[in-house]
Amino acid sequence: MKHTDKYSDIRDAVRDLCKEFPDEYHRKIDEQRGYPEAFVDALTKAGWLAALIPQEFGGSGLGLAEASVIMEEINRSGGNSGACHGQMYNMGTLLRHGSQTQKAKYLPKIATGELRLQSMGVTEPTTGTDTTKIKTTAVKKGDRYVVNGQKVWISRIQHSDLMILLARTTPLADVKKKSEGMSIFIVDLRDAIGKGLAVRPILNMVNHETNELFFENLEIPAENLIGEEGQGFKYILDGLNAERTLIAAECIGDGYWFIDRVTKYVKERVVFGRPIGQNQGVQFPIAESYIEVEAANLMRWKACELFDARQPCGEQANMAKYLAAKASWEAANACLQFHGGFGFACEYDIERKFRETRLYQVAPISTNLILSYVAEHVLGLPRSF
Ligand SMILES: Cc1cc2nc3c(=O)[nH]c(=O)nc-3n(C[C@H](O)[C@H](O)[C@H](O)COP(=O)(O)OP(=O)(O)OC[C@H]3O[C@@H](n4cnc5c(N)ncnc54)[C@H](O)[C@@H]3O)c2cc1C
Repeated sequence: MKHTDKYSDIRDAVRDLCKEFPDEYHRKIDEQRGYPEAFVDALTKAGWLAALIPQEFGGSGLGLAEASVIMEEINRSGGNSGACHGQMYNMGTLLRHGSQTQKAKYLPKIATGELRLQSMGVTEPTTGTDTTKIKTTAVKKGDRYVVNGQKVWISRIQHSDLMILLARTTPLADVKKKSEGMSIFIVDLRDAIGKGLAVRPILNMVNHETNELFFENLEIPAENLIGEEGQGFKYILDGLNAERTLIAAECIGDGYWFIDRVTKYVKERVVFGRPIGQNQGVQFPIAESYIEVEAANLMRWKACELFDARQPCGEQANMAKYLAAKASWEAANACLQFHGGFGFACEYDIERKFRETRLYQVAPISTNLILSYVAEHVLGLPRSF
């Protein structure tokens, strides 16, 4: 399948870089449960992870649409953007809500790769998706905030220098709206780990570096507060729309990868004296997933267009993520199914990509919560929680 959209220059350049990191590279990293350092370094050096940083701070000043193409092409080439996508959407939070001083301090170094901003700490073990109930607190004491609490599933901590952290600065009981009273901070992990922040890695189904975090009187300079105190949830939501749209693009990349692989395979694999792809029972699930990936793609562009125009895009970002994650999962199932036993062999890379794309039914937001958002916030149905 050839793309003829206006991003073909970006697509070709990212594909060329990805060609230097073939399936064997990603397979080996997966086997070793390692981190694709060389790949992330190459992406950084080529400037792709600084796509959203304005030119005045050393980046290329591109929009979410272009950033989404970069992520899509990584996944479409057999890689996994999960190793580095945090940098893209965390950047957005700093860009849109950080002060001029914060931007000047961090962005140029992020652009050159001297600093990595790959992590965002929101989820907590006892509150899950019910984010406004988070129990991690940040209490202002003079020129510092003192943080106590716990986070879970916080990704790329061991491969990041900085983390965006969401914590409660005003108790839930003292705010008018439950979404108020939370703030976001930039945490310098190099200063924090071992001095109030303990990290425990979580081994998981995907080769995704993710961790439990324990905060015990971690001190953060007050100047690391991003934006206004108490407004953090609103800022995070902006970043989450970018995250959802980028992940939609990654799922679209996965979807095309699965469809390319399975289409090629079913044309070649001969059983009962004919290619298995000649059977409609084989053709239809593949055709159906292709239709779904293409449809999800339209919603992804809609979300990018609104985000880049600074228009509200929660509805479209959530719907794009829902459609794309569903489509890539259906494509993954068809691809695995029609490879028969070979789909389970690691050397075909299908089982690896199958695990990777499965994550997006649950994270960064579960399918149910998107349905709930659309039902209650878009269609105005009565609130269930
Ligand atoms: C590999 C991985 C990496 C992650 N990286 C990060 C990260 O970097 N930073 C971060 O902050 N978080 C991260 N997360 C957390 C992720 O965002 C959450 O796992 C996800 O939002 C779901 O929250 P939960 O696990 O607490 O599930 P829960 O909130 O406990 O929900 C469990 C399930 O119950 C269902 N459910 C819950 N409430 C409702 C409801 N009201 N209606 C209907 N169904 C409901 C949903 O199907 C949901 O899947 C990561 C998770 C994973 C697995």
